[in-house]
Amino acid sequence: MVKKPTKRVKHIPQRTCVGCRLVLPKRTLMRLVRTPEGIRLDPGGKAAGRGAYLHNQSSCWERALKGALANALKMELTEQDREYLHGIMVSLPADEPAQGLQPTQDQKPQKGLKPPTGLKDPA
Ligand SMILES: [Zn+2]
Repeated sequence: MVKKPTKRVKHIPQRTCVGCRLVLPKRTLMRLVRTPEGIRLDPGGKAAGRGAYLHNQSSCWERALKGALANALKMELTEQDREYLHGIMVSLPADEPAQGLQPTQDQKPQKGLKPPTGLKDPA
């Protein structure tokens, strides 16, 4: 008999996306950190310095670049910062908030049904 440890409710750190102000588990957000060399992406989330969190969603980055990020980091964005952030932003999906991975279901085409070409309204 293997004794199973009681399932503990883990405390999940929550952070606010500075773009859309949604509060989400830290690991679903990307962390940016203010360093002496400028703003850097902090993939490990452990770099020292003032940090800000953002979705991997370009709409949030756009808002962040318009001032929310500078506000959160209490600094002015330099030209280099903007270039750096813009470079990341353009590599992000346009409208897909990171809220955990969802397994993609096989979508088998069915006869007689319309192919799902219509875009769904964003919730
Ligand atoms: Zn966001």
